[in-house]
Amino acid sequence: MRKVLNMVDSFGRTISYLRLSVTERCNLRCRYCMPEEGICKKRRADMLTEDEMILAVKAAASLGFHKLRITGGEPLVKKNILSICDRAAAVEGIDEVCLTTNGTLLPRLSKPLRQAGVRRVNISLDTLDENRYAYITRRGPLSAALAGIESAIGAGFERVKVNTVLIGGFNDSEIGSLAELTVRYPIDVRFIELMPMYDSGDFKENAMIPCETVLDRLPGLEPVDGSGGVAKLYRLPGAQGDIGLISPLSRHFCGECSRIRLTADGYLKPCLHSPAEFGIKGLDFAGMVGQFQRAVMEKPACHGGLSAQKRSGAGRDMNRIGG
Ligand code: SAM
Ligand code: SF4
Repeated sequence: MRKVLNMVDSFGRTISYLRLSVTERCNLRCRYCMPEEGICKKRRADMLTEDEMILAVKAAASLGFHKLRITGGEPLVKKNILSICDRAAAVEGIDEVCLTTNGTLLPRLSKPLRQAGVRRVNISLDTLDENRYAYITRRGPLSAALAGIESAIGAGFERVKVNTVLIGGFNDSEIGSLAELTVRYPIDVRFIELMPMYDSGDFKENAMIPCETVLDRLPGLEPVDGSGGVAKLYRLPGAQGDIGLISPLSRHFCGECSRIRLTADGYLKPCLHSPAEFGIKGLDFAGMVGQFQRAVMEKPACHGGLSAQKRSGAGRDMNRIGG
């Protein structure tokens, strides 16, 4: 396979990071991500097959994409998830396969995922309180997610991160205890601003609080030099891991964006918050390469002023895009 070194978009950004959603389905129903009744079931024939996903990863790699994140929906409800990870990690040019999960199915999958070539995992956890966890996920239990984090730490991933969506009036009182996880365990914690997605979410404007709130609540945080990707990094004294602040609303990072998303039903999304989509289902390798090139060149400069007052223009909820 001839490798083109880099894909540069019309705004000079190098695009090298593919987020692949392997399913829209999930075993939880987080209030900001997915409607209570779940998703409207699609025909299997309308979703990407495993072979199409791998062909898409190969097409991306031929254009210089080298980082891959497997996401969803919940990727671990997908029966063939180990095979997808294994085959994706073996694609020439892909040097990092990471996975984002709610963690609840990790206790039996952490070790096999690590063996399948997954190097890092991000685990979503918005609260350490049993009742709040049941409320926000409309399911629970919290113990399953905590067992997932523990199993990930034990499985030898290169990094384990906890992702917390910061929600004013819901979990801002837990900023300290969630941050403390970086002292007790060898993990990083990322606080992420709540984004007003398509039609889900019963959160009002005052739930969307800036990540700076974390700095106000934790005056002991010290800035950390180095790349945290789109996160600004800090550390608590004596901590084993970093605290990262990801601020898509209050300090957007579009100028540094290097990603393209591929939805489970086969659409490339150049920007999380734009309705633009480029279908790849049913295409051969050359057809997919062409669509990746179009998607990169159509990547907008910015997410278009997403704010607490201005909802995302994505046209889909997060579970149907791939967070
Ligand atoms: N099911 C997996 C999980 O929960 O980690 C992967 C998919 S989920 C869509 C990926 C990430 O998107 C999660 O960390 C979740 O908290 C985040 N997310 C979903 N909806 C969001 C929203 N409206 N604002 C901010 N983050 C959101
Ligand atoms: Fe499922 Fe993840 Fe969405 Fe929660 S955030 S409903 S776990 S896909």
